[in-house]
Amino acid sequence: MRIRSNGSYDALVIGARCAGAATAMLMARRGMRVLAVDRSAYGSDTLSTHALMRGGVLQLHRWGLLPRLAALDTPAVRNTVFHYGEEVVDIEIRPADGVDALYAPRRTVLDPLLVDAAWGAGAEIRHGYSLIELVRRPDGRVAGAALADPEGRRVEIAADLVVGADGIASTAARPAGARGPRVARHTTAAIYGYWSGLGWRNAYHWLFRQGASAGAIATNGGAHCVFVAVPPARFRDTLRQDMAAGFRQVLAEVSPALAEAVAGAHQESRLLAFAGRRGFLRRPFGSGWALVGDAGYFKDPLTAHGITDAFRDAELLAAAAAEGTEEAFAAYERTRDALSLPLFEATEEIASFEWDIETVKRHHLALNKAMRPEVEYLAALGLAPPAGTHFVEEIAA
Ligand SMILES: Cc1cc2nc3c(=O)[nH]c(=O)nc-3n(C[C@H](O)[C@H](O)[C@H](O)COP(=O)(O)OP(=O)(O)OC[C@H]3O[C@@H](n4cnc5c(N)ncnc54)[C@H](O)[C@@H]3O)c2cc1C
Repeated sequence: MRIRSNGSYDALVIGARCAGAATAMLMARRGMRVLAVDRSAYGSDTLSTHALMRGGVLQLHRWGLLPRLAALDTPAVRNTVFHYGEEVVDIEIRPADGVDALYAPRRTVLDPLLVDAAWGAGAEIRHGYSLIELVRRPDGRVAGAALADPEGRRVEIAADLVVGADGIASTAARPAGARGPRVARHTTAAIYGYWSGLGWRNAYHWLFRQGASAGAIATNGGAHCVFVAVPPARFRDTLRQDMAAGFRQVLAEVSPALAEAVAGAHQESRLLAFAGRRGFLRRPFGSGWALVGDAGYFKDPLTAHGITDAFRDAELLAAAAAEGTEEAFAAYERTRDALSLPLFEATEEIASFEWDIETVKRHHLALNKAMRPEVEYLAALGLAPPAGTHFVEEIAA
């Protein structure tokens, strides 16, 4: 627990991982008094693989956090390799806008790095605190939240803005009244784990066969995160009963070479599974509240873009909150949706598994095209000011 003071805040952020800690950091850098709380422990893991796309790395560069990430034994990934059946398409990362590599930090590395940066910028952080309910004024405006402290006692915190950064099953979104205009049609299920000594080069390897997919993502400590992804019905009906056997079976179908490499490598962790959940876009603000990260916008993880978008939306929301007007929050929603919808649609196609190899290649071209406006938008923001300085900047509508 890290507390500088008690009292009321400009913003109370519920959830302190990629979305919440980044938002708290950016708000604090703009001079806001911010408290971020999370019910989980500092530095704990969460259910997520963690490949950052160019926009995510660009954000870490803009925020001055890339050198620290690299110092934490996070390998620089200089190639994205698509394996379409037997065909291999190897793409080098093009240096631009301060990004000459991608990174896939373990969440046990990335999330505390962001928390430390938020703390360094002046935000207060409390782990072990859970949201019980939002507190409203008589006119209905959200004016703070009731939390359970680590001993289970109720604590009320007053704040001008309560930010739900509490993930896919957001407690904050429900009572805040956030409605979802968009719900995805497709989702995927995934099983993943960590192996050292895989013998595959440091890259993002994305592998595809009709009906299934796999990946090997170079991460901290010389390990690779290896995953398989399938339609949820297959996970539910056959793989879930014996995950180790199911994982090996799907991997062998998608890539006998990767299956062989995994069999000869050292397994560093137990297998973890995601049964699938449909994506959504929710209205991200209302009277005294806002949503950021998965709480407001979730899409299937197969395109590995959730953290990147959480960083982007932390930037958009912090700018809107610093300005504090209805129009600024409306601009947050418009910009988020304009940048997200093409990614959402491209992800829908890939997550459907209704493709053959030639079709999924086209879907990847569409995904690549959908990523460009996001990267261009973030690059146009220029370098962020160092921690502690206050600044105001316009959000492009
Ligand atoms: C299987 C899987 C694989 C993925 N792979 C990738 C990938 O390779 N690349 C990528 O970019 N994205 C990936 N994602 C998506 C990524 O994990 C999310 O987009 C990202 O975690 C969103 O960050 P967040 O901060 O919004 O939410 P989270 O990381 O979920 O954090 C929410 C936090 O809120 C806290 N919280 C929840 N409820 C409360 C409460 N009531 N009170 C207090 N605290 C609360 C939780 O403890 C948690 O710490 C993957 C997701 C899954 C499921």
